[in-house]
Amino acid sequence: MKFGTKVIHAGIRPDPSTGAIMTPIYQTSTYVQKAPGEHLGFEYSRTQNPTRKVLEENMAVLENGKYGISFASGMAAIDAIVRLLKPGDEVISTSDLYGGTYRIFTKIYAAYGIKFHFVDMSDPVSIVDYFSHRTKLIWIETPTNPMMNIVDIKSICKKAVDHQILVAVDNTFATPCLQRPLDLGADIVVHSATKYLGGHSDLILGLVVVKDPHIAEKLYFIQNACGAVPGPQDVFLVLRGIKTLEVRMERHCSNAGKIVNFLSHHEKTDRVFWPGLADHRNHEVAAIQMKDFGGMASFTMKGDRMEDAVQFMKHVKVFALAESLGGVESLCGHPATMTHASIPADERAKVGLKDSLIRLSIGIEDAEDLIEDLDQALNQV
Ligand SMILES: *Cc1c(COP(=O)(O)O)cnc(C)c1O
Repeated sequence: MKFGTKVIHAGIRPDPSTGAIMTPIYQTSTYVQKAPGEHLGFEYSRTQNPTRKVLEENMAVLENGKYGISFASGMAAIDAIVRLLKPGDEVISTSDLYGGTYRIFTKIYAAYGIKFHFVDMSDPVSIVDYFSHRTKLIWIETPTNPMMNIVDIKSICKKAVDHQILVAVDNTFATPCLQRPLDLGADIVVHSATKYLGGHSDLILGLVVVKDPHIAEKLYFIQNACGAVPGPQDVFLVLRGIKTLEVRMERHCSNAGKIVNFLSHHEKTDRVFWPGLADHRNHEVAAIQMKDFGGMASFTMKGDRMEDAVQFMKHVKVFALAESLGGVESLCGHPATMTHASIPADERAKVGLKDSLIRLSIGIEDAEDLIEDLDQALNQV
């Protein structure tokens, strides 16, 4: 089955009691048992829920994994993965990463005795210096947020496997439509389904997919024991969103290509970051490991003034100024003061996250309208 069919059919069957083609929302906390322990596989909805089960199966297929485990948010999913570790363990992470992930690593888990090294993985060799017998996890975001750096997943996994280090990839930006980390050797894939998978900016949800039954067992245990599970309404919305994932991603990518081309030639912009650009540092790696280059792009302005970025954001009309990404509508954001404000200024500077950097989540509106909007906003600066 091809991806465009899987999004609609994988793990999804008509409801056996009614024939309903859409997966019902099982809005129930508990399930009646005939005798103690005699039930249809469902006891209590923190542990298992039929709507959730369908999403977990669907997602496992889309990522070419075996087990899907869903959570109340992307952060709850990331939290569950870090709980696989114990005090004394070390993690090597991409230096340019989602602000919330940086925050949970440094503000929550560092205090539990887990050590994090933040490394620019644009060159895979750079990680080897950080290897020790304590290294248990490599954390990859690619494309990275917000600099759109590309990490060569396959090369990193090859280095990790000899040292029995797990590799987790946050695949939120690319989605399984464009990139499948498990096929490239990763052990764990994690998503903020809040973004492209849901696709309509109407829910918060997280997903993890793995191949290995032992890791899956631990994650299901954490899911139930810690209890950060999603509700069936949100699960239903993600299932519905995923059905159009491929067609949406096609449009996100083609709109991004047009907009990036426009921005690259605009007199007010300085640098444009998108893995599809031929001058992107790891364009070649992106062209191999991704099917297309995604709907996220960033740019800086000439002179790098914070006020210019603010002016621009005040004047956009079709783009909305908001956190988040991956919805059908175009958004713009200012990482230095919004999504990445929890990262200290010197850390931001190290990864090149400048004051005038603007991040775009390019939606699926008509590209001409989007370009016109960006042009008029840039010309107000
Ligand atoms: C949004 C996001 C998260 C966190 O997900 P939530 O659903 O907001 O908890 C993690 N990683 C990336 C790359 C994200 O964009």
